[in-house]
Amino acid sequence: MLKRYLILSLFMLTAVFCALQSARIFLMFYILFPMLFFPVFYFYDSGERRLALGCLAAAAGFYFYFLFHHPYPEMVLLGLGSVALLAALVVSRRLCQAEADRTFKKMEENCADLNTMKEKYQVRLDNLNRLEKQVLSLMEIFEIARDFSGALKMEVLCRLIYERVLPELPFKRMRFILAAENAESITCERYFLIQDGGVEELPADFSEEERGHYEQVFRKKLFLKTLLPGGDNPLTPEEERWIFPLLVEARMTGLVVVEGAQPDDFVKFEVFVSQLVLQVRKIRLYETVLQLSIIDGLTGVYVRRYFMERMTEEIKRSLKFNMPLSVLMLDIDHFKRYNDQFGHLAGDETLKKVAALIRGSLRKVDIVARYGGEEFVAVLPESVASTAHEVAERIRSSIARHDFKIYDSQTKVTVSIGIATFPDDVFPGGKPAFYDDLAFDLIRHADKALYRAKEEGRNRVFQYRDFSTKSV
Ligand code: GH3
Ligand code: MG
Ligand code: MG
Repeated sequence: MLKRYLILSLFMLTAVFCALQSARIFLMFYILFPMLFFPVFYFYDSGERRLALGCLAAAAGFYFYFLFHHPYPEMVLLGLGSVALLAALVVSRRLCQAEADRTFKKMEENCADLNTMKEKYQVRLDNLNRLEKQVLSLMEIFEIARDFSGALKMEVLCRLIYERVLPELPFKRMRFILAAENAESITCERYFLIQDGGVEELPADFSEEERGHYEQVFRKKLFLKTLLPGGDNPLTPEEERWIFPLLVEARMTGLVVVEGAQPDDFVKFEVFVSQLVLQVRKIRLYETVLQLSIIDGLTGVYVRRYFMERMTEEIKRSLKFNMPLSVLMLDIDHFKRYNDQFGHLAGDETLKKVAALIRGSLRKVDIVARYGGEEFVAVLPESVASTAHEVAERIRSSIARHDFKIYDSQTKVTVSIGIATFPDDVFPGGKPAFYDDLAFDLIRHADKALYRAKEEGRNRVFQYRDFSTKSV
């Protein structure tokens, strides 16, 4: 504002000076009059068009007044010169403005570029941070998975999943399904349910709907994100199930079904399951080795060492609950002759079949083992002598009736069986004994009964009590 008045005052002053100096034509002509156009230009430039027009009109008025009073030819030159000066000022101003606009636009463009770059940088930084977080959490999963390596049982593994994975990778429910080895379809062997309350082993059975769904998943190899069968209705994240296969060398060994997990955790679950596969494989291997060490390779019944451990446990139980227990010793009659006649390989097959027949005549709780060569031993918990006798008779007759196929011919074998019963046959003098001694005594007495059965003509059952009491 102040500047404006200052310039206007300058204009007035110059005009007055021009009027006073008009006699001195040179000074007015070359210096004072052209100076009147600077305020005009100034106001024009600062956008105050009215003031600029006012000053221009005043200067023009002054010029024509002067021309009228001093009609020199130089006055025409002065007028033209002044107009040219003003035009030059305006044009140069315009050019400068255009240049400034261009520069400004360029600057704006550069700024926009800079902002875009900044945004891109920020996005990359965010991605990097996210990746870093993911790597960290994946590392945590690897750490957890490393803890799994101590688990040698599926139950322990599930417990670890519950204790370590659930807090880290929250989910509503996890089904851990182990398929039977070499299963073509999903034949469930073990079925664990892991959820908020803990770990629960369910009967190895699916509902028809569930089985159908898993088999479909298995057949179509829809191994990753899979939804429940529910028609076209979209499922909420809570209802969504992720089904991960436990693949070992492209063979299906189980499924992990996760429900109600965070959608962002999908990749983490994939990593977790890939680690789980290794552990499941290890446990399976351990179980196989364990099985091999307790199961007789030829006959499929327990080996003697394992049988003795189990028998000792059963005797402890019988003592504790005051329950009877019987032991059967079985020996194939004239098996040497059988081998000589049909060959060892045929003998092996028959041995296998005899073991299966024994197994088939017993309950699940009874324990059978191969005691040596063609001898078997069985322990029948909670069985008195008479029951044991019935069972032994059933075994004997089923073997005697059976046709053992050797190539094209049918062969026959018989077995002799000796029985000893706890506690009747092991406390002759009522003396206390250790569990191992009790087991040993029972077997020894059953063996004596077996020997007697052989003596009496084979293919028969003999009880220890029948001759021990008589001989006393
Ligand atoms: P006995 O009625 O007195 O028991 O006569 P046995 O011939 O069965 O008696 P012995 O104990 O003399 O012979 C046992 C035979 O069982 C000897 C052996 O050839 C046979 N044997 C033992 N283990 C196996 C096996 O794993 N496979 C086969 N094929 N034979 C076996
Ligand atoms: Mg024999
Ligand atoms: Mg024998």
